[in-house]
Amino acid sequence: MELSYGAWYIEGGIYKLIEALEKIIIQKNIEVKKDIKVSKINHKNNKVESVILNNGEEIKCDIVVSNVDPVITKSMLNNNVKIKNQSLSMSGLVLLVGTDKKFPELFHHNVIFSDNYENEFNEIFEQKKFPSDPTIYINCPTKTDKTLAPEGCESVFIMCNTPATEDTWGPNEIKNAVSKIRNKLVKQNLEKLIDDAKFIEVITPNDFEKKYAAPYGSIYGKVSHGFLGTIMRPSNKDKKIKGLYYVGGGVHPGGGTPIVIMSSGIVTQEIERDYV
Ligand SMILES: Cc1cc2nc3c(=O)[nH]c(=O)nc-3n(C[C@H](O)[C@H](O)[C@H](O)COP(=O)(O)OP(=O)(O)OC[C@H]3O[C@@H](n4cnc5c(N)ncnc54)[C@H](O)[C@@H]3O)c2cc1C
Repeated sequence: MELSYGAWYIEGGIYKLIEALEKIIIQKNIEVKKDIKVSKINHKNNKVESVILNNGEEIKCDIVVSNVDPVITKSMLNNNVKIKNQSLSMSGLVLLVGTDKKFPELFHHNVIFSDNYENEFNEIFEQKKFPSDPTIYINCPTKTDKTLAPEGCESVFIMCNTPATEDTWGPNEIKNAVSKIRNKLVKQNLEKLIDDAKFIEVITPNDFEKKYAAPYGSIYGKVSHGFLGTIMRPSNKDKKIKGLYYVGGGVHPGGGTPIVIMSSGIVTQEIERDYV
């Protein structure tokens, strides 16, 4: 997509997209409930009946469009569904860094590649460990968008690929991974990103799982590599329960913000075909 359409940036950051979508939804007189989760989807005679929220409230409905990974959604239909750490895409370790220095050597997008890319992916998918020589993606949005930090400061997003995992990322795991990242930054004279940071917020696979219901912290749900992996994504419509649809990075056509938005277009068409 980047090659065909270029890389795009929303001024103010990606959350502006969420705010813009919310504005459209509210203009259409749709109620938005925040800070609340769906804990159960009730169905009867193979038809959706209602959702139960985690405050106990029941909302009757004919259609549920789930934005959560399809395996997690299925566990809301049936308590016996086990969520396995198999065939899952990788997770990420993220450092959100605030500095009161400028880094003129950085661009908006920067990648420091592993010296052995094949070994890195072997460590992630086969050995299931944080890579010994990680590829590091550094995003410095303040190069493009001055609204994101005070003058003379930089806001920086540092990310490495890491396995989706049920293991706990504790202080030791974080310390070891940050040390590997720092070693790699030293070679580019960029270690001050960590050494002189005013603050660093660390986001681990455990956080992606806990905050966003990403299975084992996996960013893209089922893996999309391998034979037919890209085109055989989980479906947007439940095969058994009428009225249940799936949208988002875990289903067809796949992960990444633009593709997720396309996924919502596909689900809209499916619902129109089934109900209008
Ligand atoms: C660190 C990181 C960097 C990324 N970088 C990029 C990038 O540069 N470009 C790009 O295109 N993509 C990027 N992606 C991928 C992109 O963010 C995802 O593919 C996309 O956000 C998936 O959208 P989604 O709507 O499927 O899921 P999400 O954005 O995860 O939304 C799911 C929502 O459902 C909520 N939820 C979970 N459980 C429940 C429940 N029980 N009840 C109600 N709500 C619930 C969650 O809180 C969350 O808000 C990145 C992802 C990560 C994690």
